[in-house]
Amino acid sequence: ATPTEEKDLVIVGGGVAGYVAAIKAGQEGLKVACIEKRGSLGGTCLNVGCIPSKSLLNNSHLYHQILHDTKNRGIEVGDVKLNLEQMMKAKDTSVSGLTKGIEFLFKKNNVEYIKGTGAFADEHTIAVNLVDGGETSVRGKNIFIATGSESTPFPGLEIDEKKVITSTGAIALKEVPKKMVVIGGGIIGLEMGSVWSRLGSEVTVVEFLGQIGGPGMDAEISKNIQKTLGKQGMKFMLNTKVTQGDDSGETVKLDVEASKGGKAQTLDADVVLVAIGRRPYTAGLGLDNIGLETDNRGRLVIDSEYRTKIPHIRVIGDCTFGPMLAHKAEEEAVAAVEFLTKNYGHVNYNAIPSVMYTHPEVAWVGQNEAELKEAGVKYKVGTFPFSANSRAKTNLDTDGMVKFVADAETDRILGIHIVGPNAGEMIAEGTLALEYGASTEDVGRTSHAHPTLAEAFKEAAMATYGKAIHY
Ligand code: FAD
Ligand code: NAD
Repeated sequence: ATPTEEKDLVIVGGGVAGYVAAIKAGQEGLKVACIEKRGSLGGTCLNVGCIPSKSLLNNSHLYHQILHDTKNRGIEVGDVKLNLEQMMKAKDTSVSGLTKGIEFLFKKNNVEYIKGTGAFADEHTIAVNLVDGGETSVRGKNIFIATGSESTPFPGLEIDEKKVITSTGAIALKEVPKKMVVIGGGIIGLEMGSVWSRLGSEVTVVEFLGQIGGPGMDAEISKNIQKTLGKQGMKFMLNTKVTQGDDSGETVKLDVEASKGGKAQTLDADVVLVAIGRRPYTAGLGLDNIGLETDNRGRLVIDSEYRTKIPHIRVIGDCTFGPMLAHKAEEEAVAAVEFLTKNYGHVNYNAIPSVMYTHPEVAWVGQNEAELKEAGVKYKVGTFPFSANSRAKTNLDTDGMVKFVADAETDRILGIHIVGPNAGEMIAEGTLALEYGASTEDVGRTSHAHPTLAEAFKEAAMATYGKAIHY
């Protein structure tokens, strides 16, 4: 439909930040329009990020487990075959179900969905190039920028999403590459590396730093998961940088050397996954037309109420500060709308969990040991291994541990770090504890059902202020 009336709120970008803000604004009774250019809602997360990657992680894990981890459980299986096309179809079904679900929620909450690319014509007007051809424009009393992020390119390697890929290519390969090299051992590198390693690829991860997992992962937890992923067949080259790449041949050649300088060698791969981070995306948004600038990392600058220097224009999600996570974008969307309708909103940036969906999963919230040391905070540590947890033992899935860091004097929880089965679900309890300012004793004295993996969580808390029972 062609928008005619001025809206209370116009949102550019229909990713997690944009669509959640649109629904919330609709619920609050605002007249709202959301402009999205990709032809489907949900942004990176639903279309090419969180959702398709988790579908492939789940099904590749099942496949790998059926191949390697059934006999000792008393299950004899016959011929196991990979049908990659079907695995991709299952992924596509999950994606389309969810993106269409958001369209339904837009209708339910009276959000006008404009399919097109938006750019500032002036401080209150967004000009839109419609996906189906033609142009329109929409005026907003308030405007939210929620244009997200894109993967950071690697200089000298041209992305064709077939031989040299980003995560977008990594969720859509047509066959299992014989050899895959991943540049960057952060979350994307390890999640997508895991998928293709489980499906039979020989995966080598080249990481510039001395540990895998990307920013925020506790060093002890990082070592722990590296060991387990190594047992699953992934290879790691840490403290190593790629100096140049050559993608002109049938395979891709990468020259690598020690980060601090050293012996060089050349790696050969059928597919190279570039996973060295993501950067804010604001191209073509017409920021110049309204005099808005980005900082040296491409982020739109905002105050504590998500306002740019033009107060009725706010920014949420990946294209501004903070971790590039869907649930962070979602919290910001709700808070930014509440600033409009109620004059207050709140996001606790100290209690945003991170989860890496490998097997086992890694999850954390709050600060890690290195961060506390740097800040000069005196802390104590308590840990509990899943090898001593009854449920993990019955599941024959005992790799990993739970670790608490708490203030040495007050026992207040400062961080929780888990590597283990279901860590991503378990961290919700940790996040709640952190949000409520709990001590480890509060958690240790809370009854946890038996036999559950969550008992490892309770016992790690007990080990922080006293002693665990089962270890
Ligand atoms: P985006 O989701 O990027 O949405 C921005 C939208 O704006 C896009 O759809 C884009 O088309 C649109 N847009 C841009 N410019 C314009 C314009 N001018 N006009 C109209 N539309 C425009 N996070 C997690 O929390 N958990 C995960 O498991 C997870 N897995 C991930 C896996 C992968 C492979 C990737 C790449 C990311 C993953 N993330 C995950 C990160 C998550 O996807 C992002 O943090 C999240 O999508 C950010 O939401 P956003 O709305 O800020 O941006
Ligand atoms: P990242 O920042 O997590 O990791 C990038 C890694 O690449 C770092 O370890 C860095 O040291 C390394 N690196 C950078 N330059 C390098 C170079 N030249 N050579 C070798 N290594 C290099 O970034 P990512 O894995 O690309 O993920 C991007 C974003 O997407 C992250 O913000 C992440 O939070 C988000 N994401 C989240 C999830 C999740 O929540 N499960 C999943 C996927 C992506």
